[in-house]
Amino acid sequence: MQTDVIVVGAGPAGSTAARGIAERGGEVLLLDRAKFPRDKPCGGGVTIRCASLLPFSLDPVVEDVITGARMKIRGHREVTRQATAPITYMTQRRRLDAFLVEQAQAAGVEFRDGQGVTDITRLGDGTFEVKTKGETHHARVIIGADGANGVAGNRLGYEAAGESAVALEGNYPYPEGVPAEFRNRVVLHFGDYPGGYGWIFPKGDHVNIGVGGWKSAMGPRLRELLQTMCQTYGFDVTDLQNLRGHHLPMQRRGMVMAAAGSAVVGDAAGLVDPLSGEGIYGALRSGVLVAPFVEDYLAGHTKTLAGYQLAVQRDLMPEVETSVALMEIFHAWPDPFVWLLQHFGPFWGGACAAIRGETTYVDLTYRLGSPGRALLGPVARAGRFVSSRRVARG
Ligand SMILES: Cc1cc2nc3c(=O)[nH]c(=O)nc-3n(C[C@H](O)[C@H](O)[C@H](O)COP(=O)(O)OP(=O)(O)OC[C@H]3O[C@@H](n4cnc5c(N)ncnc54)[C@H](O)[C@@H]3O)c2cc1C
Repeated sequence: MQTDVIVVGAGPAGSTAARGIAERGGEVLLLDRAKFPRDKPCGGGVTIRCASLLPFSLDPVVEDVITGARMKIRGHREVTRQATAPITYMTQRRRLDAFLVEQAQAAGVEFRDGQGVTDITRLGDGTFEVKTKGETHHARVIIGADGANGVAGNRLGYEAAGESAVALEGNYPYPEGVPAEFRNRVVLHFGDYPGGYGWIFPKGDHVNIGVGGWKSAMGPRLRELLQTMCQTYGFDVTDLQNLRGHHLPMQRRGMVMAAAGSAVVGDAAGLVDPLSGEGIYGALRSGVLVAPFVEDYLAGHTKTLAGYQLAVQRDLMPEVETSVALMEIFHAWPDPFVWLLQHFGPFWGGACAAIRGETTYVDLTYRLGSPGRALLGPVARAGRFVSSRRVARG
């Protein structure tokens, strides 16, 4: 098939990029190696800031609406906080991703599932040849949206995102409905999870339980930490269904995300929030950002998609970098954060406002004043040192 654009991968990043480009008049072929609907390892939490990026409601696939959190630090101190408005929607990825693909199809995107891309070649005239198992396609633009370490990024010559974080998650079934103690709130465990946390997310007929953090420190202990998390709430870890582990790709400093006629979006570009592990936001945001640059490229107004890279650096990277700093500080000294969450209303209010997209991490750091902001970098570096010493000691 000959088309304007081929998007490789139909996760949130790919379907959003494909929809945006089609809405701007581009002819788009969206390929995914999996047969849809397909599941993938993910908590399925869609923050309000993330849902706000979409021009349609996610209501058809929302299984719970989160308005509060139960947070435990080092297995003992518990803090419960309630928000004044919803902060996150709970979805299942097999339903969410299929729904996002349907929206792309409604915008005119041609979707083919069960079509794993095996090779991509840039031809002499600057167009691309894309091979799947049984077919060959040609396009002027390729968008790599096939997740971490995907074929697209690799064949197009992009550096793979870092794989410094890992997570393990499974589902505990509640066929009669999730008990009230888990509904409308997330359970979060901090302190024993270097670089991450443990979670329980409510869905329609099950809860999703997971643990994640730095691969170096958590990788060998994921199962043990998941078991402890389960024990705390009376679940038998052997009853968990669809137990799966996965990497969370993180941006490397200076990563290239776009070139002449190609770009990477979402996990393929390492756009996961280091503090929260939220990746659907980066996926949707990069999918939205890339579309106008593809339109300009197809119209012959530009010779490259480098403008997309600049837009990501302007709109997303300051948040990612601030998130890294907050993550380093939080994991080195979680107790003051939990104390602030418990006793200082504006701190919880600020966290909720950031999750809702009413403010940003960067804006929140302005509340520290100039001296506080100046100290953020050095304190984060000290935090990284403290955490690495702790990890080295075991
Ligand atoms: C355990 C875990 C829990 C998480 N929980 C959350 C959460 O609650 N909220 C949140 O916001 N983020 C969460 N994340 C992160 C989130 O899952 C990802 O950041 C997000 O899925 C990225 O979307 P994407 O579209 O870039 O990639 P993906 O969703 O990974 O989609 C990539 C697609 O590409 C397809 N593909 C791969 N290779 C090929 C190929 N060769 N040819 C064609 N298609 C191909 C795949 O089949 C897939 O459909 C979690 C991650 C993990 C590991």
